[in-house]
Amino acid sequence: MRGGLIFLCSMTTASTTSPRCACPICAKPLSASSGWLKERLHRHRLQLGFHRSLQEYLGHGADFVLLGEGEQTLLELIGAIRNGTHDFLPIAGLAFLRGNEPVKTMGRKVMKELDELPLPAWDLVDMDIYRKTWLKYNGYFSLNVGTTRGCPFKCNWCAKPIYGNRYHARSPQNVVKELKELKEKYRFDHIWFCDDIFGLKPGWVNEFADTLEKEELKIRYKIQCRADLLLQENYIQALARSGCENIWMGAESGSQKILDAMDKGTTIGRSMRPRGC
Ligand code: SF4
Repeated sequence: MRGGLIFLCSMTTASTTSPRCACPICAKPLSASSGWLKERLHRHRLQLGFHRSLQEYLGHGADFVLLGEGEQTLLELIGAIRNGTHDFLPIAGLAFLRGNEPVKTMGRKVMKELDELPLPAWDLVDMDIYRKTWLKYNGYFSLNVGTTRGCPFKCNWCAKPIYGNRYHARSPQNVVKELKELKEKYRFDHIWFCDDIFGLKPGWVNEFADTLEKEELKIRYKIQCRADLLLQENYIQALARSGCENIWMGAESGSQKILDAMDKGTTIGRSMRPRGC
C-alpha cells in the first residue's frame, strides 16, 4: 500500500497535493480535518464521493473507493486493515486495484433502518469556526442535519447515484434526539435540513411537530421540497408548527415542455399553487 491518507467526500476539492474541504464555511486543509482518521488508517488512501469515475480515483493513488453508503463498508474495511488481511473481496461496496485492474466487490445493500446508525460525531467538527463564520456573514448560526436518504422520483438530470430510487427516513424521535443534543452542546439558532425531499413519508412532519412540542424544543429551519408535496393535506401547517421558515421549492422550470423533458413528474400549475394553497 502507498503512503498517506486522502479522505474525500462530495464537498472536497480533488487536488491531491493539498486537498481541502470545499465547504465554503471551513475550507480547511484535509490534513487537519481528517486527522483522527489519519491516525487510525495511516498508510492507506481512501476515497469517498462521486464526482469522478472509479478509474480516475484508483488511477490517481486511491487504494480504496467506497461505493454507495459508506458507514458499514468503512467499518468493515478498517477492521480488515487492522487485522492485516489482504482479502478485501468479501467486503461489499468497495473498489480497489488488483494489479492494474479495478475490482468491484458485491453491491452494498441500501440501509433501511437509519435509526440504527449512531448519531453523527459532531464533536469531531471544529464548531467554533462554523459558528464564527455563520455569525459574521449571516448574523445567525445554522447547522445541517439529514433526516432521510434517497428520493423516489425520477427526474432524469438529478445527481443521486448513491441511493437510487429509494427513500428511507429516520424517525421523528431520532431526529429530535439529535436536535436536542445539538441545542444543548452548541446553541444553534437555525437548522438546514439537507434532505433532497423533507418529510415525504405520510404523517412524518406532523409527528415531528408533535415530538418537538413534547420535548419543548423550539427550532427555526429550512428545507428542500417538491411543489406537489406542499399540496398534501396539513403538510404546510405541520411545517409551520414545527418551525419551518423557508422552503427551497424544486420548481426547476416555467416551461411544461422542459419539465416533461426532465421527467419531473409535475406541472407548472402545481408549482404555482403553494403560494395560495
Ligand atoms: S424530486 Fe428532487 S431529489 Fe428527487 S429526483 Fe427529482 S430533482 Fe432529484
